[in-house]
Amino acid sequence: MAEATPPTPRSRIFSGMQPSGEAHLGNYLGALRQWVQHQEEHDCFFCIVDQHALTGGVSPDALPARVFDLAVSFLAVGLDPEESVIFVQSDVQEHTELAWLLNAVTPVGDLERMTQYKDKSQRLESIPAGLLNYPILQAADILLYRADRVPVGEDQLQHLELAREIARRWNSRFGEVFPEPRPILSRAGRIMGLDGDAKMSKSLDNTVRILAESDEVHRRVRTAVTDPQRVRRDDPGRPEVCNVYTLHKHFTDPERLPDIAAQCRAGTRGCVDCKAILADSITEHFEPVRERARELAATPGRVREILEAGAERARAEAAETMGRVREAMGLDWRSASP
Ligand code: ADP
Repeated sequence: MAEATPPTPRSRIFSGMQPSGEAHLGNYLGALRQWVQHQEEHDCFFCIVDQHALTGGVSPDALPARVFDLAVSFLAVGLDPEESVIFVQSDVQEHTELAWLLNAVTPVGDLERMTQYKDKSQRLESIPAGLLNYPILQAADILLYRADRVPVGEDQLQHLELAREIARRWNSRFGEVFPEPRPILSRAGRIMGLDGDAKMSKSLDNTVRILAESDEVHRRVRTAVTDPQRVRRDDPGRPEVCNVYTLHKHFTDPERLPDIAAQCRAGTRGCVDCKAILADSITEHFEPVRERARELAATPGRVREILEAGAERARAEAAETMGRVREAMGLDWRSASP
């Protein structure tokens, strides 16, 4: 595995997110918050990967709104279209072209041993080829922009390692075009869902949306599972095993944490109160984000313009890479001398 050393200044960074609805706390802590920080020091490409969503069987009626909602989340948390290239994957056709070309250097065996493929395909009667080839499109997303750094969660490290192998194989066969992309591992680790036993994920209904209003945040957080040993209100609790306390560490004023932990351990504050404090902290943390999201939702034309402009910048970069790739792979038949 490539070492996850800190990126050098002005690395080129690519990261993508599927448009599976509005972002939740896991997306924010595990990805978006760090993306916002990266854009100050690096050249960043942030992509809404709508073509990846197709392998999950998303409905054509739902997809456009999901892309729009995720764009609003991106911009509302502080991704800045002046600093970064923010765009939608299907607006740059070279993603799928490069994916096809990378098929040529990717053994099927490598794809079949991907854990995510094994997990997801097990649950299906008929496995779409796109599910198997998913990591090739992911490699294309990254390599198309010759990105050298990719912020990822741990679950994506295996795919990124495959992208590195694909780049290595392609370069050794056709010439040096692609840097081998290295991970920037998310500092937040895996954020657990409100159920307390699986990662927070849209598909599990265990999330808190970052754009949720106060009453929704309170309603959701109230359902969070806490220390299972704490049955009665005044039982002593263990903050170190409690997911609510983990979330406090991310969202509550650090000066309040020692008291919250001590009162939990002593059984002097019940979980219901503790969750209400957390819900208030979350609501407060995202207040400016919600405010920006409201403004953006009221000016959809502006959001579209940003995505169009991002796509234009992305296409220019993609065209340059693909010129070199097509030539290296012998796809410039016009250059043949009779
Ligand atoms: P979901 O599982 O909700 O569909 P995605 O798989 O689309 O989320 O993830 C998008 C990004 O958010 C990825 O970078 C992923 O690593 C990060 N992410 C998603 N859920 C979590 C989580 N529970 N903890 C940490 N990071 C997460």
